[in-house]
Amino acid sequence: MPMSQAFKDRLYPHLPAIVAHYGTPFHIYDEAGIRETGRRLKAAFADIPEFREYYAVKALPNPSVLAIMQDMGFGFDCSSITELMLARELGAKPDDIMFTSNNTSAEDFAAAAADGGCILNLDDITLIDKVPTMPELVCFRYNPGRRRTGNDIIGKPEEAKYGVSHEQIVEAYRLAQARGAKRFGLHTMLASNELHYSYMVQTAAMLLELVETISKELGITFEFINIGGGLGIPYLPDIDPLNIEAMGEEITALFVDFKDHHGYCPALYMESGRYMTGPHGALVVRAINRKDIYRTYIGVDACMSALMRPALYGAYHHIEVLGKEGGEMETVDVVGSLCENNDKFAVQRPLPRITDGDILIIQDSGAHGHAMGFNYNGKMRPQELLLGKDGVVRMIRREERPEDYFATLTFEEKILNL
Ligand SMILES: *Cc1c(COP(=O)(O)O)cnc(C)c1O
Repeated sequence: MPMSQAFKDRLYPHLPAIVAHYGTPFHIYDEAGIRETGRRLKAAFADIPEFREYYAVKALPNPSVLAIMQDMGFGFDCSSITELMLARELGAKPDDIMFTSNNTSAEDFAAAAADGGCILNLDDITLIDKVPTMPELVCFRYNPGRRRTGNDIIGKPEEAKYGVSHEQIVEAYRLAQARGAKRFGLHTMLASNELHYSYMVQTAAMLLELVETISKELGITFEFINIGGGLGIPYLPDIDPLNIEAMGEEITALFVDFKDHHGYCPALYMESGRYMTGPHGALVVRAINRKDIYRTYIGVDACMSALMRPALYGAYHHIEVLGKEGGEMETVDVVGSLCENNDKFAVQRPLPRITDGDILIIQDSGAHGHAMGFNYNGKMRPQELLLGKDGVVRMIRREERPEDYFATLTFEEKILNL
């Protein structure tokens, strides 16, 4: 089921007032829902001696939402300089930040090392010589190649640009050790929006096995394994959610077994984005046009600048029309105003009959939604609101305005005479 009944109960009765106060369009996020998911995640892994989620900042990089993650004891997974700045601005300490960059630049390394540093997750063996100073604690991202299958969004591991290959992985730790690293972690990220929890269990098993191999070769122990993000959410109605409790139980059993054999076990880290916030956000828009040509088009007041996933991946986002549940249905395309025919929130979707002024709730926009938006065609991104657990609705980002779009045209003159 896409949006939970609890979120609907908190939101729908108040939506007319929220729309009247803030105007459309907006993304709105549900603090109570985010906290409930965080609580369930922690509970599922409570029997592992040390478990920590590092929220993947790119999924919803809004400080107000990141502050909720921090309050739940989570760290942050960052992969750009601005994401590092966001985390540090919130007061995140070096141990609270995992820096998982790829195609890493000298500037990235400098930013990662600034302010006391962070947990550095290296994406390639050649980067060992490029880290200005090797931190005491280092981690590598492992790419198993053909040993694992990926999934549709992220692709096959052997075709993915990420990580250190199986053949290089032991050597990578040997070289890092030679450059002074003393503490170690191991990371991977193989799937995206994966709903089968056993895939994640296999990933944990794979990393624990690799820890064993590397430990034997080099005589080092590992402080943590990080199984990445990629936990899925059901975008389609009638799909079962990922069974986080079963995932927790089976991974805990792997850790118990590891501890029995080795006398210690590493911590378990995870860096979920989508799973934490995806279902707890919705994009609320208003229908402004109806067009009947070869198909019926419902034009709304937002476009793919607010939510790219349908256009990028053909992704399904469930849509409801406020106050029209159970009404007469018709099949329509729900479209934005961008000059791209894939600027559609829904294609040939049965929906209640929509008239101008109706409010549409485009669900599951809480991860990779606002954050992914772009300004192509001069389109602006909408405001973001947070429905607090105290029942207060706060604006946590204003809408973009033309002056934002034009801001980069104001600069000190620079010319080069050739
Ligand atoms: C995108 C990303 C994540 C989060 O992925 P979700 O599918 O949102 O859980 C975690 N780690 C890395 C390295 C990523 O690139």
